[in-house]
Amino acid sequence: MTDIRQGGCLCGKARYEIDLSGHETGNCHCRDCQKNSGAPFVTSTFVPVSQFRWINKPSGEYSASPAAIRRFCVECGTPLQWDGLKLRDMVDISTATLDDTSNIEVSYEIFTRSRMEGAAALPGVPQYEASSSE
Ligand SMILES: [Zn+2]
Ligand SMILES: [Zn+2]
Repeated sequence: MTDIRQGGCLCGKARYEIDLSGHETGNCHCRDCQKNSGAPFVTSTFVPVSQFRWINKPSGEYSASPAAIRRFCVECGTPLQWDGLKLRDMVDISTATLDDTSNIEVSYEIFTRSRMEGAAALPGVPQYEASSSE
């Protein structure tokens, strides 16, 4: 069962298409995501690379660490993708950039050690101090 949706940045220059079937979506409270988004946390969605394609790929690239390239729109600044260099088989996009954000379950929270006050833990959802693999 597919769940194909489109998304993009604030100005509309960068666009993508994604199949959300079997996705994993979580909130990341790490300092890099906080700084990058200017928000308390970033909700991001992972799918296999075969379920994602850029319609218009953003040209903005920034690496806060050797782990990933953060891709963003140079026109409007919207963060779109965390491109993990050790996770070549998966794609991670900023969930809130989907045109239709309905019915997307958040199933974990990571890097809760840097959670901002006021960003309460989601009830019943696994919480990880750092990444879910540590
Ligand atoms: Zn844009
Ligand atoms: Zn993060």
